[in-house]
Amino acid sequence: MSTVTTSNNSYQTAIIGAGCAGLTLGYHLIGSKSEPIVLIDKQTNRNDHLWSYWDNGRDSLKLPRPFIKKKWASWAIRTQNREVIRTGNSFQYVCLSSAVFESHLQKAIENSNGTILREAVTGTNTKNGTKSLRLSNGSELAINHVYDSRPPLVSDGAMYQHFVGLNIQADDPIFDDSTAILMDFRVPQSFGIHFIYVLPFSKKSALIESTVYSTKILPHSWYKQQISNYVQKNFPKTNWEVVSQETGALPLTNKYPQIPFGVPIGLSANAMRASTGYAFSQIMSQISELVLKIGSSPSKMTVNKGSSLIEDFMDKIFLDVLSKSPQRAPEIFSKVLESLTGDEFAEFMSGYCPASTKAKIIAALPKALFSIAAIRRTFS
Ligand SMILES: Cc1cc2nc3c(=O)[nH]c(=O)nc-3n(C[C@H](O)[C@H](O)[C@H](O)COP(=O)(O)OP(=O)(O)OC[C@H]3O[C@@H](n4cnc5c(N)ncnc54)[C@H](O)[C@@H]3O)c2cc1C
Repeated sequence: MSTVTTSNNSYQTAIIGAGCAGLTLGYHLIGSKSEPIVLIDKQTNRNDHLWSYWDNGRDSLKLPRPFIKKKWASWAIRTQNREVIRTGNSFQYVCLSSAVFESHLQKAIENSNGTILREAVTGTNTKNGTKSLRLSNGSELAINHVYDSRPPLVSDGAMYQHFVGLNIQADDPIFDDSTAILMDFRVPQSFGIHFIYVLPFSKKSALIESTVYSTKILPHSWYKQQISNYVQKNFPKTNWEVVSQETGALPLTNKYPQIPFGVPIGLSANAMRASTGYAFSQIMSQISELVLKIGSSPSKMTVNKGSSLIEDFMDKIFLDVLSKSPQRAPEIFSKVLESLTGDEFAEFMSGYCPASTKAKIIAALPKALFSIAAIRRTFS
């Protein structure tokens, strides 16, 4: 086995994983550190997809802002019998391409004092206070500071948010491109909680995603059929074609963080909102706060989770209710949106919202259902 040490390779800092969190931290570190850093990722290719989140102009979202592809002033949830629309005052719903953002960060890191190794970390060790990483090519790196973004492990029976999204181009101006449709529940519910997510980029083009909350991931053909049926039903007179597609399966429950080596970041540090799968803006906040701590107090390098303890508990109760009573999902999600202003909803989705917002949500939810779930969670 060959051994690469800091003395001949002089990496003081290593980041395991060059995904959203790893690249963002790497980008900040090349700006603030003079010594070389190394990012290690087992993937050579990461699929492009959209990251959507709420932006209110805060500093932690400055880095991705130039790459925003589209902004929406309003967002909606549709059920069989109603539509709830909210408009932000300070917040807008925005999206960007993961490939465009990641490629920018990657180039900046590699053009500066950063290296990205395309290897898997297969083992970690600490001996006499020195950390070392074993790589899939058989080499070993000795490192002073390690940040770890390997995602949590998932056990059997986990609830996933799984989806296929099709970017479609229509012949006619069929979309209202001022409003993002977060959830349209007017679709078959037989395979779990199912909704269509519509991000209209223009009057003629949109990402249309069929999303399911359940323990069983379905064949891609199933989601594509749902999207086709949805477009057919809602826009029967238009011709349309698929330009590209994206897919994903995000575990929401039964997650066990890998034993962190160094400082955990990203999903590994619980950045994801358990009930919704949103993690992007939480990761941006997490990394911004971490970078400040690295600069000022190196001994206190911990990161905040994507939500407060109370929000975590609320998310868990939400998931408990949804798994036991999936037929109530349209009512529950629409009531949450209805109980809040646009900005309050965006704040809740982004994590660490004020107590008054949480109180409004709790007041709006079906009492019996949520009280039983809260008791179940407390004693489980
Ligand atoms: C398709 C999809 C769509 C999403 N859309 C949204 C959205 O719209 N809004 C939102 O807020 N969130 C979204 N998310 C959730 C979240 O923002 C992303 O999952 C985000 O990429 C998480 O960042 P991360 O750095 O923690 O993990 P990742 O980006 O997954 O990065 C972890 C990296 O670690 C590497 N790795 C793992 N193990 C090893 C190892 N042993 N050795 C070396 N490397 C290793 C992996 O290859 C990976 O590149 C989406 C997720 C997916 C998958």
